[in-house]
Amino acid sequence: MKRKKYLIGILFLAAFLLVACNRTSTEKKILTTTNTYYEPVKSIVGKKYEVEPIIKSTSVDPHDFKPTTKVSKQIAGAPLVVANGLGYDDWVNDIVEANNMQDSKLSLGEDVLHQKQGSNEHLWFKVDNVKKLSKSVYERVSESDKLNKKTYKRNYQAYIKKLDKLTDKEQQIRQTTNGKKAYITEPLPYYLLQDLGIKVQDSHFAKAIEDGTDPSIKDVQEIQTGLKDNKVDYLVVNKQVTSGVIKKLVKTAKENNVKIIYLTETLPRSVGYYKYMNDILDKFAN
Ligand SMILES: [Zn+2]
Repeated sequence: MKRKKYLIGILFLAAFLLVACNRTSTEKKILTTTNTYYEPVKSIVGKKYEVEPIIKSTSVDPHDFKPTTKVSKQIAGAPLVVANGLGYDDWVNDIVEANNMQDSKLSLGEDVLHQKQGSNEHLWFKVDNVKKLSKSVYERVSESDKLNKKTYKRNYQAYIKKLDKLTDKEQQIRQTTNGKKAYITEPLPYYLLQDLGIKVQDSHFAKAIEDGTDPSIKDVQEIQTGLKDNKVDYLVVNKQVTSGVIKKLVKTAKENNVKIIYLTETLPRSVGYYKYMNDILDKFAN
């Protein structure tokens, strides 16, 4: 009988410890709205915090994402939530407001870059923006955890060094891409093309696709003819959004030897920001 009581006691203690551990781990977990920002944040905080993205793979279109109750609860306990902003992940704002945790949110568009809604929201395609985000994350965590400031600083400097490699690569590639032209199926790679000196020829069409409206027949015809006449060097396609029209354009591009570059809006599972950007740059370099 005594032994049984003893066992029950141990079980209780174990259950209590499990709950307690769980609580500290969610409290310490920093969240990012998409997996794009996982690496920039994790590289700064290292082992001091867990980091988890809400949107984890390319199977979800962030533009159409709706948070579940589970996600809302998860966010409510986070010490920091890193968002893209500019309308890209607005759903996070409602949760943040409902929980009165505005101070725990860091939005790249608004808080870091001070841009307004209406600017192109695919901000991570500009490496410089991600460098600025890393700096803000470093400043935020150093403020709330002053004891580890030195570690965060070291991590921040190391990550910037890594991102500098992307910037150098862009400058190198730009020597051959500067002045080239592209059609894009979505305004996704806007900043990247800008940094590579590539001119976008069809902003109308891309905007319509992203807004979920039908592109005008005139726009589609113009692109078809442009591809046939080799008026552009690239057709840049968002792999996460397809439609009959886009498939047709891809076919025409293939038939006319226009280089097609496929991109994704979020990162494939187990690929970090650096590798994602580096792989994309390789596609332009070849
Ligand atoms: Zn998009």
